[in-house]
Amino acid sequence: MIEYENLGKLNKPFFEEYQKAFKETLEGGWYIMGKGVQTFENEFADYCGAKHSIGVANGLDALIIALRAFNFEKGSEIIVPSNTYIATILSILHNGLIPVMVEPDRTTYNLDVKRIEEKITSKTRAIIPVHLYGKMCEMDTITSIAKKHNIKVIEDCAQSHGAKYKEVKAGNWGDLNAFSFYPTKNLGAIGDAGAITTNDKELASSVYALHNYGSKVKYYNELVGFNSRLDEVQAVFLSIKLKYLDNINEHKRKLATIYLQNLKSDYVKPVVHPDYFDVYHIFNVRHPKRDDLKAYLLKNEIKTDIHYPVAPDKQSAMKGILDNQPYPISEEIHQTTLSLPISYFHTEQDISRVIEVMNKF
Ligand SMILES: *Cc1c(COP(=O)(O)O)cnc(C)c1O
Repeated sequence: MIEYENLGKLNKPFFEEYQKAFKETLEGGWYIMGKGVQTFENEFADYCGAKHSIGVANGLDALIIALRAFNFEKGSEIIVPSNTYIATILSILHNGLIPVMVEPDRTTYNLDVKRIEEKITSKTRAIIPVHLYGKMCEMDTITSIAKKHNIKVIEDCAQSHGAKYKEVKAGNWGDLNAFSFYPTKNLGAIGDAGAITTNDKELASSVYALHNYGSKVKYYNELVGFNSRLDEVQAVFLSIKLKYLDNINEHKRKLATIYLQNLKSDYVKPVVHPDYFDVYHIFNVRHPKRDDLKAYLLKNEIKTDIHYPVAPDKQSAMKGILDNQPYPISEEIHQTTLSLPISYFHTEQDISRVIEVMNKF
């Protein structure tokens, strides 16, 4: 059986270092916001090329806190892609703001920059571009649209650690940028974790307060804050894994190249363009008979996944919350997309086997 993902196998190469770091942290006796968190925050900011990074409890919190830091008035509109993971939309709702969905481009699966301005109104306060599957959005165009309309940009970088657009990494383009270190992400922890990066000192200071009870000085609360701290033990694991992130990304890029070069043309494959350095958090193809293909692969002992089976506007939790507009591109993607095995533990032979089976479908 070729698995889609196996977190034990993925992390196996790091076990020894993790065990040593765990023992040190355990014996060190400082479990919240210690040296480990500070070290990781500095290393992650450096990695992204950003000036500041603040560790938080998970990716959803990173988005919620990033939005909260701007203090937008209730009912403000936030632009978001119609095919994002539900977390992006929840972060807007949990701040009392209104998600305004924009369709993605059919080939990159990211915000179609030509459709953004038609959705901007006098109530629009921010755009959240989501770098889906490990490919970045057209950030130069998005940031210039934002500047023109005097609105903020919050990157959702949960799937794009180390991805670049025109040589600049994710987490470096927006006013505030949200990362998840959920275990399956390219930089994944051994549990929940997240971070916010920024180049703005004042915003960094607000985020820092918000994530820790709204306090900059212990027991003095300036803001109505959260408890959303990055665990010390996750931080020390993340510092170890960060050293290997470029290797992880390179491995996924190598496997992606094998798919791209060898899968038959019946499949709609991810686009490759010199402006983009893609990290393939997910390698998806599209096919009109997606469900049959998935069943056929499983019969041939190949597991796959779907990101995502149901579009945000079709989720039952969103009934009466999101508008009733049609989102045909998002709908088409959700009905036809299939995610293929591309984990750090997969070998080139695994991928060749998937291709061999797929090319007979
Ligand atoms: C994973 C993910 C999130 C949420 O991260 P969590 O750590 O699970 O809260 C947000 N946005 C996108 C695009 C994601 O893929």
